[in-house]
Amino acid sequence: MNATEADGLIVAHYGIAVGVRTDTGETVRVRVRRRSGHVVGDRITVRDGKLKRHPRSSELRRLDNRGEIRLVASNLDVLGIVVAPLPRSPETFIDRAIVTARATGMKPFLVLNKADLDGAAELEKELRERYRDLLPLFPVCAVDGSAMGPLIAFFAEGHRGAFVGTTGVGKSSIMNILCPDIDLAVGEINETTGLGRHTTTVSTLHSLPGGGELIDTPGFRDFGLAEIDPAELGGWFPGFEAVVEQGCRFRNCLHRSEPGCGLTAAVEAGEIPASRQVSYLRILDELEEHQARLPRRNG
Ligand code: GDP
Ligand code: ZN
Repeated sequence: MNATEADGLIVAHYGIAVGVRTDTGETVRVRVRRRSGHVVGDRITVRDGKLKRHPRSSELRRLDNRGEIRLVASNLDVLGIVVAPLPRSPETFIDRAIVTARATGMKPFLVLNKADLDGAAELEKELRERYRDLLPLFPVCAVDGSAMGPLIAFFAEGHRGAFVGTTGVGKSSIMNILCPDIDLAVGEINETTGLGRHTTTVSTLHSLPGGGELIDTPGFRDFGLAEIDPAELGGWFPGFEAVVEQGCRFRNCLHRSEPGCGLTAAVEAGEIPASRQVSYLRILDELEEHQARLPRRNG
């Protein structure tokens, strides 16, 4: 690059260097310190080999193998939660992903993969009943690439997203179809450790042929729920919006069993299934547990 200054986007992270796609279409490598804090998706200005980061609109985090929260990508506007009839993801897993996406500025959507398997229709019915029109649902079959049209069209609206989901649901298979240049290995996960096939921590951003962008974050295991205030969980929880909006007797009601809780009343009246409150309470417990273990941060 000849110019001393250029704006661009980080499209790859190699640990001690990042790949930058400049707004003029060049791709350059810029050396960074190991813990520079730069991630794929960051908008930056390169000046004399140094990066200046622009403000972020969202941050995608995960838990690493040591249980530490790591930032893996930024400026995503959508998060795809992949589910399948096999392996089945627990209800709480899906809710946790939805809550995390919403709380960190991403719009969640569901991808129901393995439409060819028994139980797919039943799972679709269950998901539609549970989440109604709260988030888009795309049934697909990655094994033969069928029914991908609506998902491709969704990305083509100009979204930048990533996929999360239990190991084996078909995230790599779906990404391979959406983005042929990714070429991810499929189904080579170590079932015992749950670790991915990538030994490196390279994250990459890919432009999809039909429009939109996909971020691949190898080794993605879980989300950093830690920064959600337990008192705000109810407001993010799918299906609780209207009840929480109405308010409970106590302003910071956690909807456990406080007197005058609107959510508990809605469950008792049969307006919200009891299983939804169970899933909510599980996440609330996890959040509080997590926060208790976390060192207090300043600011
Ligand atoms: P990941 O762990 O979520 O990335 O899942 P993979 O993409 O590695 O897929 C896990 C396994 O599911 C592989 O054996 C795939 O071939 C298989 N698989 C992926 N999509 C489908 C599908 O639509 N139908 C069926 N029957 N199997 C699939
Ligand atoms: Zn309440």
